[in-house]
Amino acid sequence: MDLIYKRKCINCSCSKTNDILCKNCLKTVQKLPSFAQDVINGYSVYSVFYYEGVIKKLIRELKFKHNKPCANLAAKFLYDYLKTIEIDMDNSIIIPVLTHRKNYFKRGYDNVLEIAKELNRISDIELNYNSLLKIKYTKPQYKLNYKQRQNNIKGSFLLDKNFKTEKQIILLDDILTTGATLNYITSLFKERGFNNLICLTLSKTKKQKSFKHVLNMFF
Ligand SMILES: [Zn+2]
Repeated sequence: MDLIYKRKCINCSCSKTNDILCKNCLKTVQKLPSFAQDVINGYSVYSVFYYEGVIKKLIRELKFKHNKPCANLAAKFLYDYLKTIEIDMDNSIIIPVLTHRKNYFKRGYDNVLEIAKELNRISDIELNYNSLLKIKYTKPQYKLNYKQRQNNIKGSFLLDKNFKTEKQIILLDDILTTGATLNYITSLFKERGFNNLICLTLSKTKKQKSFKHVLNMFF
């Protein structure tokens, strides 16, 4: 029976550690530095990893393969990272960037919300997932450039007009690609005067596509 229930490593499929990632694969994970690596709309953006290797697998397992326990490991990574940056966790509030209900029903759960719930459970940071809502279904963004993404995302989120907080807002997402989504969402907070906000993403793509066209000019 033990054999049947032993969890396999999502990366190498071994069941030595009986965990989502075995010890060896866990060692390959490299955290990004503990400072704001990007700035969007004047807000600091912290990313824990590059979107590659085992982290890419972890995110995809949770997103596409119904491997919900991956949310727990993702939250542990985020929590460990939060401890290394200057932030008052007792005075913070997590707001996840949710998917549209259409995706939610297809998947049965929201992958970023699952991570946020786990983060709330292990860190005790307040969680609010009712105030920022995705109100318009948007096409998958991976084939679009930054400009197209910006148009795609416009009007797709709503910040509840009754939302109030004195706390530091932690806007949470799983992947930062071009920043078009976070750019739009932070603008909603900005126009309401929420200045105490940071973005936290589990991962970011290595070549952020918004900078690609700049690079192309040199080659
Ligand atoms: Zn492994």
